[in-house]
Amino acid sequence: MSHELFTGSVGLSSKSLAGAGGADVVHAGTPRIMASTHVQSLDVSHPLNPLKLPFSTALVPQLSTWFELHLKTPLGAMVCCLLALLQMPASCPNTLAELAPIPDKLVVLTFDDSVASQYSVVRPLLKKYGFRATFFITEGFSFRTNKADYMTWEQIAELNRDGFEIGNHTRDHLGVTPGNVSLLREQIEAIEMRCAQHGIPKPSSFAYPGNGIHTNALPILHQLGIRFARRGGAPEFPYEKGEGSAFEPGKDHPLLIPSAGDARPTWTLTNFVEAATQAKDGRIAVLQFHGVPDRDHPWVNTPEPLFRQYMEFLHANHYRVIAMRDLSEFVDPDKLPQNPVAIIEERKNRRRSP
Ligand SMILES: [Zn+2]
Repeated sequence: MSHELFTGSVGLSSKSLAGAGGADVVHAGTPRIMASTHVQSLDVSHPLNPLKLPFSTALVPQLSTWFELHLKTPLGAMVCCLLALLQMPASCPNTLAELAPIPDKLVVLTFDDSVASQYSVVRPLLKKYGFRATFFITEGFSFRTNKADYMTWEQIAELNRDGFEIGNHTRDHLGVTPGNVSLLREQIEAIEMRCAQHGIPKPSSFAYPGNGIHTNALPILHQLGIRFARRGGAPEFPYEKGEGSAFEPGKDHPLLIPSAGDARPTWTLTNFVEAATQAKDGRIAVLQFHGVPDRDHPWVNTPEPLFRQYMEFLHANHYRVIAMRDLSEFVDPDKLPQNPVAIIEERKNRRRSP
């Protein structure tokens, strides 16, 4: 991965990435209240807020008018607060949600490329241990015709019904480059459409095909509602061995989350343990797999007996195993580092110095 891949727009802030839109909240007998999707500020000291509830000051003028016209009683103030609460879930999920502290031994399991063995081998093993996981789906390679090696959409829908997360890996397994980033939206929307056809929620997690990244993809991913995106271990580590870094929330951009390990056919339990045990001191190990086994992508094959050892290690050592979307319990996806690639450069420099 060359340095120039990071020369794109990096001046992204929570504000510039914020989505637009609004929700109408209509209650019988009350004026129509337009609730902004993104709450501007919270006001726990406003006189119309006797319960000190953290609702938007943007609502207060409308509520105030209604209040003065209709119900100048403590009950009126209570109704105001209830109305504010009713708009809260849609308006400020991250502003108010309390993030859980990141425990040691927190790992995210991810499986790329819609490989058939992910249904036949991985699924039952994860269910046995009660592990969650994200399956990053693409219709690339020979997905459409080769059902010996790739899952059917019915199987993918069953993974969703099992409670696993279905993530977006683009329709054609499009490696993101400066030259084709303009195609990303269409590629992502095609998978979203397939998901909708099969009763699968719109994916909020994304994995970069071939682990190729470019910062010009970040605003596109954000606009499409992607909250967390996973890359590989590169450019800090070379692609070949599948080594990587644990995710450091606050330092790593939530749309450039590194893999702590990307399993290779040459891996043994030692390699897997090196990746997983990075999950400590506020860091989360995101682990990347392909097929178990993977006949169509032999360079990222994981033999079934080894995969069983890896999962047994996580189980025996009391790891908490989650899907990408579950990161929102611990990480605010709207909290962005000032420079999305600073931590990448920092790690590269750390590796260069003895
Ligand atoms: Zn892939």
